[in-house]
Amino acid sequence: MSDLWVANSQRDTVAAMAATDTSDATGSTTPTKRERWMHQWKELYSEVITTGLCTGCSGCVISCPHNVIGYDHGQGGFKPFHLEEELGPDNCVRGERGCTSCTRACPRFRTWEEEAETRLFGRTREAGDPAGIYRDIILTRASDDFVHEHGQDGGLVSAILIWALENDYIDAALTSYVGEGDGSQWTASPGAAFNKDDVIRGAGSRYTYSANPLAFDEAIEAGARKIALVGMSCQSSIVPVMKSRKIGKVGNRFALNIGLLCSKSFDEAIFEELFELKYGLDRRDIKKTNIKGVFQIWTHDGGYHEINLKECHAWTRDGCNHCPDFAAQHADISTGGIGKFDDWTLTIVRTDLGSEIIDKMLEDGSLIGRPGDDDPGAIALMQKLAAKSRSRWPEFAWEKPALLPAPAKK
Ligand SMILES: Cc1cc2nc3c(=O)[nH]c(=O)nc-3n(C[C@H](O)[C@H](O)[C@H](O)COP(=O)(O)OP(=O)(O)OC[C@H]3O[C@@H](n4cnc5c(N)ncnc54)[C@H](O)[C@@H]3O)c2cc1C
Ligand code: SF4
Ligand code: SF4
Repeated sequence: MSDLWVANSQRDTVAAMAATDTSDATGSTTPTKRERWMHQWKELYSEVITTGLCTGCSGCVISCPHNVIGYDHGQGGFKPFHLEEELGPDNCVRGERGCTSCTRACPRFRTWEEEAETRLFGRTREAGDPAGIYRDIILTRASDDFVHEHGQDGGLVSAILIWALENDYIDAALTSYVGEGDGSQWTASPGAAFNKDDVIRGAGSRYTYSANPLAFDEAIEAGARKIALVGMSCQSSIVPVMKSRKIGKVGNRFALNIGLLCSKSFDEAIFEELFELKYGLDRRDIKKTNIKGVFQIWTHDGGYHEINLKECHAWTRDGCNHCPDFAAQHADISTGGIGKFDDWTLTIVRTDLGSEIIDKMLEDGSLIGRPGDDDPGAIALMQKLAAKSRSRWPEFAWEKPALLPAPAKK
């Protein structure tokens, strides 16, 4: 066990308190008794941000009640940083006075995985569950052709958001938008969606990073009380971790959590440095991209190009290097595009809420579904890719938090 973890576990024993039970936007509750949580920005900085565990998910940023955590959106950035000067970048005056919100929100801090799973499923995963705990896997597509056409795969995510807005499950969704024209359509940025037009504007996948939780304030300022998060795997763990660690003011606003399967995201420089320089593909001419074993690129002139993923590896975003979650394991519904059917979304239904929404959408005809068994190869590939991602969790972090169950050491 490293010195770091020894020091921290001593600190953990400082005190215990009885926390008050709170119900959240989904109406569920959590157990009441827990250890007193003493960890602040100082621990977050030394254990997560400087060790490379930080994914840039932005959970800590939106949770800070004093607005002293900024976010670097620049190329090579996607990291939180401390805004106040008093104690420097590695400590926080508010933290020294007892504020612990940032570590409570962080889905890479300490025993995040165990806490998220206990909160969501009342248990932690079995040894044979690299892709996490789920109730069902099916294939789906939006029955509205317009939504389906705009979606990346089956348009499921957009269909759910539109349905959930119209059926009062949510008031807003934190999602990703892009600029228009001049190649800025590949610069993904967070934004809130309040209606069908907004949802369609954000449909499709960009393979650069967008810290969607950062649209939280926009949604709240517009009056939203029940919010959906659409997020990469790394982002979708924020919600149950926040709820488990009782950071209610922010956590309780999340009423739905939709995850996107993800093995990595890329630095935006890949457009100029690889696609344009080597393959002559100007980002302004690119119509759509997808990743299916290769990086697929469609251009406006009807062209189609495949680029070997090994070639793209050098542009992997830093925050992805230690990420152990391919399958968005802590979402209500996780979605992906792997498999033999191009225009269907692989749909992993994980929670009661996820199940309720998918069932109702199938019943009222908003969704078309087929059994996951129609494509067993997709499920096998998901498990394989999930196991591969779990092997990226670094050895220095294995003792605490252990991934459950801990990966076998080589
Ligand atoms: C960076 C990235 C990597 C992915 N890697 C894989 C993978 O390896 N294997 C796999 O099976 N699936 C992967 N996916 C998921 C897949 O591309 C689809 O998002 C998923 O199948 C849902 O498709 P859909 O047609 O149902 O969604 P749509 O209806 O098209 O909705 C997609 C939603 O994702 C949001 N979004 C788009 N780009 C981003 C972004 N960069 N960051 C955050 N939100 C975004 C949109 O705003 C929209 O709300 C990845 C997605 C992204 C964004
Ligand atoms: S992983 Fe997310 S919550 Fe944790 S430090 Fe990084 S940005 Fe903040
Ligand atoms: S691999 Fe995907 S889920 Fe993991 S940190 Fe990178 S963007 Fe997030």
